[in-house]
Amino acid sequence: MDRADVSDDGSSGPVVPQRLETEAQDPRACSEARRRLVEQLTVWQCDHIDDVALVFSELVTNAVLHAGGAQRISACPAEDNRHVHLEVYDNLVAIPEPCVGGASGGFGLHIIDHLSERWGTTPTAGGKVVWADIPCRCGAVRPAG
Ligand SMILES: [Zn+2]
Repeated sequence: MDRADVSDDGSSGPVVPQRLETEAQDPRACSEARRRLVEQLTVWQCDHIDDVALVFSELVTNAVLHAGGAQRISACPAEDNRHVHLEVYDNLVAIPEPCVGGASGGFGLHIIDHLSERWGTTPTAGGKVVWADIPCRCGAVRPAG
C-alpha cells in the first residue's frame, strides 16, 4: 500500500479564492473590509450578499467600537454551499450581549441574531472570536473535479 495516491487537485490556472482574510482596526477599515467582502461574495455568486454584508458589518463594527478592533476577520462559504461562515477575532474577553434597554450598540446583535442561522462566541488565547453562519447559496462555483 505504498503506492502514491495523489488525489490532490493539481490543476493549474486561476482558482477562485475560498476564503477572505482581513482585519479592521478603525471605522474606515470596516468599510474597506466590507467592500472586500462584497467583492468576494460576488465572486462566490452569493445570493444573499446584502444579508451577509450586514451581519459582517455589525460583527466588525462591534469589534472596532467595543473591543479595540477586529484583529482578524475571516469569511468563507461552508462546505455544503448553504451558508457563509464569518469569524471576527478581537482582544476583549467579554461576551457581547444584546442591549434590551435600547442603548445604541445593542441593535447590531439583534440584526445578527435575526439574519444568522446560528452565531456565537468562542474564547481565544487573548480574547474571543464572534462567529456567524448566514444562510445563502455561496461558493457553488468551484473548480471542476
Ligand atoms: Zn453566500
